[in-house]
Amino acid sequence: MRVAVVGAGFSGLAAALELSEVSEVTIFEEHKEVGIPEHCTGIVSKRVYEGLKFAEEAVEGKLEEYFIGTKEGKGIRIKGPKGFTVKFQRKRLEEIMLEVVLSKGAKFINKFVKEVNPKGTVEGERFDRVVIAEGWGAEIAKTLHVAPKPRRVYGINLEIEGKTAFPGSVEVWFDELLAPGFFAWVVMLEGKAVVGTASEPGRANVRKLAEKVLEIAKRRGLVEGEVVKAYGGVIQTGPPSLAPYRGRVAVTGDAAGLNKPLTGGGLYPSLEVAKGYKKFFPKLWRAYHPLVERLYAETYLSRPLHKGNQKFYEKLFNSLDGFEIYLEEYDNHIKVLGKAIRALGIKGTVKALASLPHLFYPL
Ligand SMILES: Cc1cc2nc3c(=O)[nH]c(=O)nc-3n(C[C@H](O)[C@H](O)[C@H](O)COP(=O)(O)OP(=O)(O)OC[C@H]3O[C@@H](n4cnc5c(N)ncnc54)[C@H](O)[C@@H]3O)c2cc1C
Repeated sequence: MRVAVVGAGFSGLAAALELSEVSEVTIFEEHKEVGIPEHCTGIVSKRVYEGLKFAEEAVEGKLEEYFIGTKEGKGIRIKGPKGFTVKFQRKRLEEIMLEVVLSKGAKFINKFVKEVNPKGTVEGERFDRVVIAEGWGAEIAKTLHVAPKPRRVYGINLEIEGKTAFPGSVEVWFDELLAPGFFAWVVMLEGKAVVGTASEPGRANVRKLAEKVLEIAKRRGLVEGEVVKAYGGVIQTGPPSLAPYRGRVAVTGDAAGLNKPLTGGGLYPSLEVAKGYKKFFPKLWRAYHPLVERLYAETYLSRPLHKGNQKFYEKLFNSLDGFEIYLEEYDNHIKVLGKAIRALGIKGTVKALASLPHLFYPL
């Protein structure tokens, strides 16, 4: 059977990688090369990394400790097993994925696709199945009436070359002024850091906010050095499209709203769906369930953290200050929440819940 994949970002390449084992794959990509424009931090769980082991060369470092709280350092510490999460250099990762896909016999066509028909026609050429992986713009998905309507923020990364205080760890800061509607991050690697933040549209100049985040990270002695690169893009925080398929066409990645709602992470869900495509081929629609339902539920669990005000964040993280949680799970946020509640115990959970009224009454 012949399958067309439209878009060679992470989700299109992941789909092509799995589908080229059960079908003849043709990839359509508007750019001559993959991995551009750069936008993503490239952090994935151990589980996702295991599926991408062939791209070891693109690994920039392992991240085993996360601090989640305020920029002043009040909050909760999450520790994981060795290799709990991994940071990839995204462009290199996609280049390696393309090399592997081509070695499996797939074809790469440098072309911008304008039209896809539910019967499986791509620009007039008939395929047995079509996978749309065109990114957040979801133009083709809209014409098929299967595009998601997720909440979107704009995120930016600053890459810094220099010393970091705790290589292998990440700080995540919830702060209404530094990251309006999302969170800021400081990723510390050996000899390198990635500092970033995001904002809801129209609320702030994200580049300036990222520079403030860097200033604070430097003041706290977390990062030293100069910015060597800046890049960013749209981060989607759910909900996904519940039925991202029509006729012979299936939609994946950002174009289907396949993102972990709390972090916007898109690599895990599109890799899971890609594995499902191979498993259930040619019934591509079976790959989405129950993942999309879970991402849908996680959307509404994540909203208080995204929509919080400063008072809420202060109360929440002051009450959780000093707690340490050991987690093996990173991708399933419902499981993470369950484990966190168990680790915090009744006292910790009640303390955390006591901050909720500040969401509605920021006194
Ligand atoms: C600042 C930032 C940080 C992030 N950090 C992380 C992270 O740490 N971990 C994580 O898991 N996720 C992260 N994400 C999210 C992740 O980057 C996205 O979910 C992921 O890149 C989406 O991949 P995709 O293949 O669906 O879309 P894209 O990467 O946008 O790829 C779409 C591809 O399709 C091509 N295309 C589009 N339309 C057409 C057409 N009509 N014809 C031909 N080609 C077309 C485009 O040129 C592009 O190559 C981050 C995002 C941002 C912005």
